[in-house]
This record gives sequence, structure tokens and C-alpha cells, in this order.
Amino acid sequence: MTAYDPNNIFAKILRGELPCHKVYEDEHVFAFLDIMPRVTGHTLVIPKAPSRNILDIAPDDFAHVARGAKTIALAAMKAFNADGISVHQFSEAAGGQVVFHLHMHVLPRHDGVAMLPAASRKEDDKVLQENAAKLIAALKS
Ligand code: 5GP
Repeated sequence: MTAYDPNNIFAKILRGELPCHKVYEDEHVFAFLDIMPRVTGHTLVIPKAPSRNILDIAPDDFAHVARGAKTIALAAMKAFNADGISVHQFSEAAGGQVVFHLHMHVLPRHDGVAMLPAASRKEDDKVLQENAAKLIAALKS
């Protein structure tokens, strides 16, 4: 099993070395908008514990991420008037993983609207800012 690389992009975001549109944080998890959203409101939930993916994360840390994903899912339903939610988690390159700090994708879905292919379009910063504000407001309500 490949060792965790503390210089991966999400570890840098977690340490505040790279910017992000943060929407939620607690003792165990951190959530921010995907920079190349596959749907409006596409959010990533990551553990604060350094974990590469589902294969090395401690079960309790994985449970914290799952709780965070549920929190985001409920808020995203309201914030984006969604009809449903897709949750994805990819582990290792063969599983579709590109960034090697565990993350759950929370994707608000609308009836009849397909997801864009992964990493196909970088969203405007202003749009991400607006969507983060909507999600933060829904998390508070
Ligand atoms: P994976 O395939 O590893 O599950 O997904 C990685 C995700 O990270 C992709 O959806 C991609 O758009 C997103 N991503 C890649 N680089 C960055 C970045 O610098 N900032 C943010 N917020 N998302 C990123």
C-alpha cells in the first residue's frame, strides 16, 4: 500500500496553504466546494486525519466523514433545491481516485440532469463563492 503523501492538494488546503471555498468544519472533518464541479454545489468532505483513501483510514475517521457527508447532503438539498443526492468515494487510481487524501463527493442532483464528466470544467470563482454562501446559509438554518 502506498504511503500517505502530506503534500497532496487537499492536505495543503487543510493546512491553509492553498485557498478553497470552505463550507463546513468540525473537530474531525472539513468540507469545501469542488473546483471543477460535476453538478452545482458539488462538495468534498475530507477527514482531518491524514488518510489516503478507504483502504487506510481508521474506521472511526471514515464514520466522521460519513456523518459530515450527511450534514452536507441535507443542507445541499435545501441550498440547491435538489431532488436527490449522489455520494461518491474513489480509492486508488484504479478506483477513479485522482487526489490521494480521502474524500467523499456530495453531489446535489436534479431530475433529468446528468453530471458533467469529472474534471471537465473549472468553475468561475464568483459562482463558487455564491454556491458556498448558499450552502453555509442552509447549514445554519
Ligand atoms: P477524485 O477523482 O480523486 O475522487 O476527485 C478529486 C476531485 O478533486 C475532483 O472532483 C476534482 O475536480 C477536485 N479537485 C482537484 N483539484 C482541486 C483543487 O485544487 N481544489 C478543489 N476544491 N478541488 C479540486
